Amino acid sequence: MTEKRVYNFSAGPSMLPVAVLEKAAKQMLNYEGSGMSVMEMSHRSSSYLDIFEKTKGLLKKVMNVPDNYKIVFIQGGATQQFSMVPLNLLKNGKADYAITGAFSKKAAAEAKKYGDIHIVYDGSSYDFKHIPTQDELDLSKDASYLHICANNTIYGTEWKYVPETNGVPIIADMSSNILSKPVDVSKYGMIYAGAQKNMGIAGLGVAIIREDLLQDVAQTTPVLLDYKLMIKNDSMYNTPPAYAIYVLGLVLEWIDSLGGLEVMKERNEKKAKLVYDYLDQSTFYKAHSDKENRSLMNVTFTTPNKDLDAKFVKESIEAGMTNLKGHRSVGGIRASIYNAMPYEGVEKLVAFMKEFEENNR
Ligand SMILES: *Cc1c(COP(=O)(O)O)cnc(C)c1O
Repeated sequence: MTEKRVYNFSAGPSMLPVAVLEKAAKQMLNYEGSGMSVMEMSHRSSSYLDIFEKTKGLLKKVMNVPDNYKIVFIQGGATQQFSMVPLNLLKNGKADYAITGAFSKKAAAEAKKYGDIHIVYDGSSYDFKHIPTQDELDLSKDASYLHICANNTIYGTEWKYVPETNGVPIIADMSSNILSKPVDVSKYGMIYAGAQKNMGIAGLGVAIIREDLLQDVAQTTPVLLDYKLMIKNDSMYNTPPAYAIYVLGLVLEWIDSLGGLEVMKERNEKKAKLVYDYLDQSTFYKAHSDKENRSLMNVTFTTPNKDLDAKFVKESIEAGMTNLKGHRSVGGIRASIYNAMPYEGVEKLVAFMKEFEENNR
């Protein structure tokens, strides 16, 4: 069965490690003698609570989450966090947002419904090829927080540093680069992510929040959008996305068994280098983003014209690689090479790029 699998370069939902899929398959009908699948379990059962606690513990271990941070599992993906962040964390009605791509733009637009949002940087006039340097950030002194998108999935750029904010907490959307490398959680007020890129499957959002930032929300806030309430109920105010949490546990086990986030980083750097080195020496392809801001997870580039972009996508599918078409708002090619993409998949992509260049220049 595995030999028929394709290399899936989708930006999300994306590839899962084969070891994870195999374990889930093995446990599908009868999870560890419980006589049922994880999908059929009561979320209050001891079998499920073991899975839940193990997953939370592994996330804490793998990401080295300090004790003064709380981990919450929420439905609604990363997009729900665009609403929850301002609903919960706007203290004086003011917040800073850096717009470095489509998702940070959406996050800022959502926050504007609730407060006075100051845009500290907007990369739209430069096709979002760039991540601002510290000097390019117009930070306010009295912001409740600074929101950034740590990795811009659509444009293929990534923050390589954590901005200095003089005590203003940083809230980072890490949907597309969480678990790809070690991060110093203590430098953030909150980190959040949708699970379907590097953490597992759709239906689950994860938030890691510094406890002292939690506050009472306005009375009209929907219960499920209240971090404090969710944490008080340990993510089980209602039925959590139980199976997605289980898959996250399997993914974390896989990462841990390979040596953790240092090893993920090495693997990801090696894969990204292979594609970027090829792009840099080529006069046929053109990488989208500025060299110093390139994402390790989403590699975006173009061929000399739109027709060749389309031909590239079509022929790559015939060669056993899927979802290389760039996002509809950018065009071109996008290769998402998350943790689960094996090195061999990237080698195959680069060999294909070479052949395509020779045939079409
Ligand atoms: C995919 C993505 C989102 C949206 O995630 P959903 O789970 O679909 O809501 C938000 N931010 C980033 C950076 C993403 O990559």
